[in-house]
Amino acid sequence: MVKIKTPEEIELMRESALIVSKTLGMLAKEIQPGVTTLKLDQLAETFIRDHGAAPGFLGLYDFPNTLCVSPNEQVVHGIPNETPLAEGDILSVDCGALKNGFYGDHAYTFEVGEVDPAVKKLLEVTKASLYRGIAQFRQNNRVGDLGHAIQSYTESFGYGVVRELVGHGLGEEMHESPEIPNYGRKGRGKKFVNGMVIAIEPMINQGTKNIKQFKDGWTIKTADGKPSAHFEHNIALIDGKPELLSTFDYIYEVLEIVSEEEAPYRKASVKP
Ligand code: MG
Ligand code: MG
Repeated sequence: MVKIKTPEEIELMRESALIVSKTLGMLAKEIQPGVTTLKLDQLAETFIRDHGAAPGFLGLYDFPNTLCVSPNEQVVHGIPNETPLAEGDILSVDCGALKNGFYGDHAYTFEVGEVDPAVKKLLEVTKASLYRGIAQFRQNNRVGDLGHAIQSYTESFGYGVVRELVGHGLGEEMHESPEIPNYGRKGRGKKFVNGMVIAIEPMINQGTKNIKQFKDGWTIKTADGKPSAHFEHNIALIDGKPELLSTFDYIYEVLEIVSEEEAPYRKASVKP
């Protein structure tokens, strides 16, 4: 069942989401060749606790860490370890925080040093597809409209859309109804209504859409070993329109990226 949120609950969710946004911004400074993902994990846990929240993933379904860190051909759910990042890697970082009983949950794929132009393109298209999905999160549109927008855009570049993993409703539980697939048919699926809060999270592969799971029971990688990208935002449906609860602005500040991509979906009174 979809749990509709009150305006007060949505404000609490914004708080949780902004803690994750700031955590990813802090990590943007640290993601360099030579750093280990375990070090990033420790920094994130400390940062989240210092902001009066609890790590959202730690212990959830028995996940062992604060961050999911998935380099290169790993799609999602990678476990932090002692392997240092190398020049030219990409690293998908997914982070959750729990505060006031509500979760924030979003993700960004970072470049480590100088990255191959074809991989840069994958990241650019995957992130653009996230905003195409967000644009469809409107009153009376359906889950299939959103999935179709992401799928048709990313497939037009020859990329593979992961089928087994999807976005989701978000709230007092990390994964609420409805599921938000990154593929679908226009006009199909559940209708969007005001007060819904969802996580939209395209997981897009440079090659095949097929995936494999590591023996660790968590890590998902592409079946052909080609790179994969993952970007995730948290969005509330307010007055018929999508409003971002999360922001990549803290990341962009560090990486000196100028972008207006979030502007149409921002609450006018909120300065990130
Ligand atoms: Mg999620
Ligand atoms: Mg996530």
